[in-house]
Amino acid sequence: MNNADFNQQLIDFLNASPTPFHATHNMAVILTKNGFNELQEANKWDTPAGKYFVTRNDSSIVAFIIGSNLLEDTGIRMVGAHTDSPCLKVKPQPERKSEGYQQLGVEVYGGVLLNPWFDRDLSLAGRVTFKTSKNQVKSTLVNLEKPIAIIPSLAIHLDREANKDRTINPETDLPPILLNENETFSLANVLGDAAQGGEILATDLYFYDTNPAQVIGIEGDFLASARLDNLLSCFTGLKSLLGADNSVSSLLVCNDHEEVGSASASGAGGTFLKDVLARITPNEASKIRTVSNSLLISTDNAHGVHPNYPTKHETNHGPILNKGPAIKFNANQRYATNSETAGYFKALCQGLEIECQEFVNRADMACGSTLGPITAKELGVRTLDVGVPTFAMHSIRELAGTLDAFNLYRVLSEFYRDQSPLGAER
Ligand SMILES: [Zn+2]
Repeated sequence: MNNADFNQQLIDFLNASPTPFHATHNMAVILTKNGFNELQEANKWDTPAGKYFVTRNDSSIVAFIIGSNLLEDTGIRMVGAHTDSPCLKVKPQPERKSEGYQQLGVEVYGGVLLNPWFDRDLSLAGRVTFKTSKNQVKSTLVNLEKPIAIIPSLAIHLDREANKDRTINPETDLPPILLNENETFSLANVLGDAAQGGEILATDLYFYDTNPAQVIGIEGDFLASARLDNLLSCFTGLKSLLGADNSVSSLLVCNDHEEVGSASASGAGGTFLKDVLARITPNEASKIRTVSNSLLISTDNAHGVHPNYPTKHETNHGPILNKGPAIKFNANQRYATNSETAGYFKALCQGLEIECQEFVNRADMACGSTLGPITAKELGVRTLDVGVPTFAMHSIRELAGTLDAFNLYRVLSEFYRDQSPLGAER
């Protein structure tokens, strides 16, 4: 596969995955097509050497290959990412009317950069839980696809300070407008087809921008899209796993709820990955040996140094788009990287003649975090945090380089073929 093919597939995945539910579903479809067998957490498992995946809450997924070599001896090559992105979530009773317009009330999910959400052609997608005519409770995914709503900006004439001091009240400034007031309107009617004529009981619905992902730049250097953080990493990890060496064991975990702290049943702070490991290792000692021989590469985008705001980065640690994945460091364990795990990743990149970069926050600025340290704490697994540099993280339209995802794919593919991460001579 070449860079252009990879980016086109990534673009298709981004466009088809407006919510964590859709991302998980689309990954499951790709895994099934590639010979992975779906497991259910509620069922008994029998997992001899082979390829498997399991989902939780329809929004998190663990895919893994049990290699032909003994798990405890070879450990598991693990890659982590997250399925969720900051956005606007529809409230349980969302319908509101104001000044002759029908609107929907929203909650802010995660650390949304709110300004870019104005003046976008928005659609709705997510999960709907409904009661069938036979009184069964079922859930299904829904994606309205067409633009059905918009959050218009206030005209500059009505807010002369808008370019200087604009603040956004998430309760009053954000409800998207759907249509002129209409007595017969109800969201349930709009979603009726999804519920197959049944009664809608509850929803997990999110607004998203219908503007599709695309390559931009005078020489096509950039990829602009919503949800690059972190579907870019989910897709890259997934494509890498498909080419993994089947003699050793490999795993990809994509968790929901990273953007809100990971403390949920399907988040990295929950039991999902731990439960999977407990079921594929025969006992506790075997599990500890397996984890001890394993390495997790936690992939989540990094902040590229912005040419208009260069002082936000420190001179030696400003990752540049299209110059390779950035290893992320933080002395206070906001990132889980250490010299051993970073050195391993650098050597992998060197072997492929791929540049890699290093990111550390300015010492006078607070550092973000990701699922690397959380998974490291939960499992006790050696971990490093890496990610492709991006601009506009948590905007409705983020920007990455068109070379970086493919190069990360090459590095992760090599990792998934490595017989013994960090060397057998330890
Ligand atoms: Zn992220």
